[in-house]
Amino acid sequence: MTTTENITSSSAADLSQALQAGELSSVEVTRAYLDRIAATDGTIGAYLHVDADAALEAAGAVDAARARGEELGPLAGVPMALKDVVVTEGVPTTSGSKILEGWRPPYDATLAARLKAAGTVLLGKTNMDEFAMGSSTENSAYKVTRNPWDTDRIPGGSSGGSSAAVAAGLAPWAIGTDTGGSIRQPAAVTGLVGHKPTYGSVSRYGLIAFSSSLDQAGPMTRTVLDAALLHEAVAGHDPLDSTSIDSPVPVLAESARRGAEGDLAGLRVGVVTELGGDGHTDGYEPGVLARVAEAVALLEGMGAEVRQVSCPAFDLALPAYYLIAPSEASSNLARFDGVRYGLRAGDDGSRDLDEVMALTREQGFGPEVKRRIILGTYALSSGYYDAYYGQAQKVRTLITRDFTSAWDDVDVLVSPTSPTVAWTLGSRVDDPIAMYAADLCTLPASLAGVPAISVPCGLSDGLPVGFQIMAPALADDRCYRVAAALEAAQDAARGHALLAGIATTGIATKENAPS
Ligand code: GLN
Repeated sequence: MTTTENITSSSAADLSQALQAGELSSVEVTRAYLDRIAATDGTIGAYLHVDADAALEAAGAVDAARARGEELGPLAGVPMALKDVVVTEGVPTTSGSKILEGWRPPYDATLAARLKAAGTVLLGKTNMDEFAMGSSTENSAYKVTRNPWDTDRIPGGSSGGSSAAVAAGLAPWAIGTDTGGSIRQPAAVTGLVGHKPTYGSVSRYGLIAFSSSLDQAGPMTRTVLDAALLHEAVAGHDPLDSTSIDSPVPVLAESARRGAEGDLAGLRVGVVTELGGDGHTDGYEPGVLARVAEAVALLEGMGAEVRQVSCPAFDLALPAYYLIAPSEASSNLARFDGVRYGLRAGDDGSRDLDEVMALTREQGFGPEVKRRIILGTYALSSGYYDAYYGQAQKVRTLITRDFTSAWDDVDVLVSPTSPTVAWTLGSRVDDPIAMYAADLCTLPASLAGVPAISVPCGLSDGLPVGFQIMAPALADDRCYRVAAALEAAQDAARGHALLAGIATTGIATKENAPS
């Protein structure tokens, strides 16, 4: 595993083993990724910020500690990337917005601090839709990010820089955040594994807030085991986050390893009717539904008992989410006032504070963010509150009840992750409703706060399709077990791990590939 190509197409778990065995140094691994970023990210556009010197210095420090015989954790020396919504001490953090251009935070988010303490090496910060609002990363104020499977297509969003980086071999794994699907959907359309943890199980301290009752951070990786390992590294109670759950870090990697043995005897699987099932196929591509049906058959082949489960309130998830999330955003984004962080516009002595604030927001926020602030402010305004925000909260309760009654009959619920494969860049930018429709399948788990994973389940027209597995709150281990079983069954059928597919995405064979 010594060439750049081999290193950048390995799983993080394999890199970790090679580092622990002394077969590779962290500097070698980190340099391989930096070389590939230099050669390829001009085309992909995954990163907003890369600091090669800082990465090599951190890698060198891990190598030196290992040489001294210091006790190091399993992730020590493994590089990673963080979505730019994660606050990093001294490292530019923009959340994809001009309003935060030039801001270098004075502290680390809890998850960034935990990954630093584990000895991981930060390669850089990845592109994203502005303030995580979007499904294609086209709402970034900075650049376009391309899907490594077809560079004319979107990498998903809002964590599209993270998905593109991992899928193109520009990071072994990455952290994304998911408010309504922003880990799972980009993972699905780039052929990755992405997990949204149970709400409250990964600290939100130092994540730039979008919709605080929904936001969760989680792993985006090439294998289910990698996702479990990265999730374990960042999970666990944090007194700095008032909604953090005070319970032990779940046993996830072990669940993934056991799941890969392929025994699902007795597992009860519910296929959600409202998410692409009979009478609910409008907007779903036939190729997506076919791959999902094949995945369900594979689960059945491993002993799972499969039945249809109706969750009627899921039909209302989209309008409910697009009232609740903008409402919370309109409140959260009030902190960007041109005084405390980043951009300050028109402060030349001729304007008063209100004018400077208005001008800063006018220039600093992009069109989608303004749309959400206006929508959210309206939904919360007196006279309309009950009809919009209040009503949406009632729907949220109904969705949670649908989940609760489903758990009487099944252990997990499954669906497509996204109704379609990656679409062509630009084709939905002028149609917000079409953009929002990408979240149909991911929103219910977000609104109910339950864990959900997206795992690749094959290709449609040569593009990746994602399979979503949802479980009860705090049963994240169940997502990993079932996802690992499915991954192993597909690898066996294919004769090789899907991971090997990275080198066939075009990127590695094009003229811009590293030599
Ligand atoms: N696409 C959804 C939105 O635009 C979800 C975003 C997210 O999960 N951050 O709000």
